Parts: sequence; C-alpha cells; structure tokens
Amino acid sequence: MIVLFALLTSACAGGAGATAPAPATATGPELVEVPLTLYRLIDADGSELGTTRTTADIEAIGALVNGIWSQAGIRFEPLRVRDLIVSAAALGPIVANGDIDTLLDELQASPPDDLGALNGFFLSEAFGVNGFAPTGSRVFFVVDRPTVPDQRVTSHEIGHLLELHHTSQDRGRLMFSGTDGEELTADEQTVARYVARGILDGNR
Ligand SMILES: [Zn+2]
Repeated sequence: MIVLFALLTSACAGGAGATAPAPATATGPELVEVPLTLYRLIDADGSELGTTRTTADIEAIGALVNGIWSQAGIRFEPLRVRDLIVSAAALGPIVANGDIDTLLDELQASPPDDLGALNGFFLSEAFGVNGFAPTGSRVFFVVDRPTVPDQRVTSHEIGHLLELHHTSQDRGRLMFSGTDGEELTADEQTVARYVARGILDGNR
C-alpha cells in the first residue's frame, strides 16, 4: 500500500506545469495550482458497485470544488475526469468497510492514466459514509448519493488530503463533519497552501 501511495504521491511532482509559479493575483497571494484527477470507478464485472455519475456530473462537481477552494487561493488545475475499470473484488471491500487494499493492488499493477497530485474516486457507496480519505494517502472516495452537497463532500475530503482535521467549533466550516459548511479559517487556508506546495515540490 505504501508503494502505491508513493506512486500516487509522486506521479505529478515536477510534472508539466506542476511546479511552475502561477501568476500572482491582483488582490491576494500567489495562486497554488494542484493537478487533480477524478475517476469514475466502473465495475469490470458489471455490478452496481461502481458509480452511476457521468463525466459531466463530475466535471460540474469539480468546477464547484474550485469555487470553494478559491477562498484559500488554491485551484485544481489541470482538473481531469477519467473512467477507471476495476474488479468487483476491488470495489466490494471499499463498499463494505472502506478496505482499499485490493484496489491499490490493481492500480499498482496497472496505473491509471493521468494521475494527479491528488486523486478522487467516485463509487456507489462506502460503508454508510459520504466520503473518506485514507490517512497518509493522496486518494479520496466520494459516494453517489451523499447526505450533503457533492461539492462539499469532495472539498472536505480534499481538505483531509491537505492535512486539515475535523472541527467541532462551527457548522459553517468545511471541516465540520456532516454539514454543508464550506468555510476555511485563515489558519486552515495557510496550512492547506503550505501542504499543497509541499506536495507539488515533492517534499511531502
Ligand atoms: Zn472528514
């Protein structure tokens, strides 16, 4: 698992455009651009474990995610949506209990196209949660019918990948679990930008 995490971590470090400084904006600090790939997980065996979302659905979510993260001066670019066919044996344990080991084994054997610095996977459901991001990884998962808005789930899981933790302080915050809050505090924005830069520079 660690090796695949490393693969997923390093895939875009130093990649085209990934480390080029973005132009400073007129009103804020330099924009941090992070390559993000969102995968439609599709079951090779034809079961309904994979996602029913379309590419257009996920592209729309991606645009809204960029709207949420703009408050931190972070933009997911390039933002790609790709199909990824995996086995029911890989999907079943994720749906049942969040075990991603078999999926990681399959990805390790056959790395998907266009890995981003961060990578999201959409699937039918996952042990009753809206989404999750395995600790220490560069990957996260989002289910088809979350209880809060799609872009909020996706943005929240990205927050975990950028090393933000849950808060119990304010339901309006992105990192409050299970709400539709979208706000990032100044401290959270600073941490996320720092971590994003570290990922792009290959030292995290
Ligand atoms: Zn969370």
